[in-house]
Amino acid sequence: MTRSQGLVIAIDGTAGTGKSTVGRAAAEHLGYGFLSTGGLYRALAYKVFATKVDPSDAQAVLHTAKNMQFRFERQPDATLKMFVDGEYLGSKLHLDEVAQTASKVSTNAAARAVLTEKMRELGRDGGIIMEGRDIGTVVFPDAEVKIYLDASAEERANRRVKQLVAKGNQADYEQILASIKERDLRDSTRAASPLKPAEDAIKIDTSALTLPQVIEAVLKEINKYAS
Ligand code: C5P
Repeated sequence: MTRSQGLVIAIDGTAGTGKSTVGRAAAEHLGYGFLSTGGLYRALAYKVFATKVDPSDAQAVLHTAKNMQFRFERQPDATLKMFVDGEYLGSKLHLDEVAQTASKVSTNAAARAVLTEKMRELGRDGGIIMEGRDIGTVVFPDAEVKIYLDASAEERANRRVKQLVAKGNQADYEQILASIKERDLRDSTRAASPLKPAEDAIKIDTSALTLPQVIEAVLKEINKYAS
């Protein structure tokens, strides 16, 4: 398929494998846009929380998803900055509670369809790297390049602890590890668009790799397609 702005590149995988950092760096290198699709699910979780909706109330969650107005602005670092109902939610979306609620509301198939449509609109013309759980399997099954990143839960928890400590925050390894495992389990066992590698995805285990090595491996795969 030829798209006017370039390829659609899907990067999927479990939480904390470096999908965002890798995707953003690769997009910057290619002059592509970059979207972290977990942001849309996190924004839905935030709205559900802010309006005191029960995350397990399917109708109310769907209603919330349908009423959210998304706007995206491309930044110099390739990122598509997301505004929801005119507001940039920023660090409010990074809390662990928001991630857990995102994982709960994202089991809602009808709400997923609403957000999937937004993602498809953004990627229709190509020239984009999208990172998430189901980009290569559901959102863009026809993506030209599909990458699936994984790493052991212990390694991902270690990385998260290091990130938090580097920012001067407290970090409890056991609690972070449990939270990662809980989210992985829910994301990969849900009925609607479960987390799994697409059959034609290139799988990369990042446990023993540095970020520059992962970025290099991903760019190598993209270049294979482009050449
Ligand atoms: O990637 P991130 O941690 O921001 O994603 C938050 C949650 O959103 C995930 O745990 C997952 O439940 C959900 N998600 C999803 N499909 C995507 C992206 C994220 O279900 N494409």
